[in-house]
Amino acid sequence: MSKHGTWQGMPRENIPWYPAIDEAKCKGCKVCFEFCPHGVYEWEATKNKPKIANPFECVVGCSNCAGKCESGAIMFPPLTILKPYLSSDNYSSS
Ligand code: SF4
Ligand code: SF4
Repeated sequence: MSKHGTWQGMPRENIPWYPAIDEAKCKGCKVCFEFCPHGVYEWEATKNKPKIANPFECVVGCSNCAGKCESGAIMFPPLTILKPYLSSDNYSSS
């Protein structure tokens, strides 16, 4: 069993869905860190920036924290990247 569980029958670690921070835009407000209930973020006090400490704890398809960031510093891939993972091909054991 995957440490981070599975999504659509695949280990969560195989799904490239998690936030990325544009540090140049980030104002260090901590909203993302305080908002996410899944522990994806840790707070880097020395840099006064969030760190994506647990990317595979991010809920696949969620991008709620990006909407909370007034600086537009949180990025996610487009939802369309998930489509191939929904293919029945991914259920084969090869
Ligand atoms: S919400 Fe945005 S500006 Fe605030 S700490 Fe997170 S990334 Fe930085
Ligand atoms: S998208 Fe959702 S689960 Fe992922 S880091 Fe943001 S709030 Fe947490």
